[in-house]
Amino acid sequence: MTTTETATLALDGVGKTFPTGTVALTDVSMALRPGDFTSVVGPSGCGKSTLLRLASGLEQATTGTVHVTAKSTSYVFQDPTLLEWRTAARNVELVPELRGASKAERRARAAELLELVGLTGFADQHPRQLSGGMRMRVSIARALVAEPDLALFDEPFGALDEITRLQMQTELQRLFVLKRFAGLFITHSVSEAVYLSNRVLVMSGRPGRIVADIAVPWEYPRSPELRYSAEFATLTGRVSHALGEHS
Ligand code: ADP
Repeated sequence: MTTTETATLALDGVGKTFPTGTVALTDVSMALRPGDFTSVVGPSGCGKSTLLRLASGLEQATTGTVHVTAKSTSYVFQDPTLLEWRTAARNVELVPELRGASKAERRARAAELLELVGLTGFADQHPRQLSGGMRMRVSIARALVAEPDLALFDEPFGALDEITRLQMQTELQRLFVLKRFAGLFITHSVSEAVYLSNRVLVMSGRPGRIVADIAVPWEYPRSPELRYSAEFATLTGRVSHALGEHS
């Protein structure tokens, strides 16, 4: 089998030019295998969200190929995009509901996922009654209830305060260890990228292309204290250096 066939997601020589003439991406190649967690960092406007939209099939590549073998893909946005009139549990139930699951089954699935994200006591609350971090937990529970083999994250923690953000990184890593989906994660935070990923791709300013591909060696789960180690500083330094050279 070729690399492309074994990968959950493979991009080969992908370019994207919008009808407006904006060249968002040029010659992007990458592969994401089961159990990989790859982050993409790059300056604003370099095409990171476009890359995710290509991976999800929301956009079509202008050149090159996007190959997805994932049976189920989920997408987590910076805005939790919850339905305000539904409780936390009913927001998570939405996906199994749309797939025709019975009431009992979807209730059980939602309860399981809310427990996994630490929100058991909040199942009957509406989004406006929840903090920003809790709303993001509901959004992640909703994404994982579909048992995705590919999970796409578009700066999910970008709007959270620093303490909540660090907690959410630890939580997401715990869920990743448990579920082992292939993750593609967009972020502006170099330390977030290094902490979460086994690979960090650095993109140049627009038109975006991959200018560095940095492997992160540590096994999961990683302790929160890893962030304060010299080896962590060395790796974040390498990513920042590549970013600085190409923005
Ligand atoms: P990033 O996520 O890295 O900030 P985006 O992928 O959102 O970057 O956008 C990359 C470039 O493509 C930007 O210049 C943006 O204005 C442009 N762009 C994004 N979507 C569209 C679209 N639908 N039509 C035209 N231009 C777009």
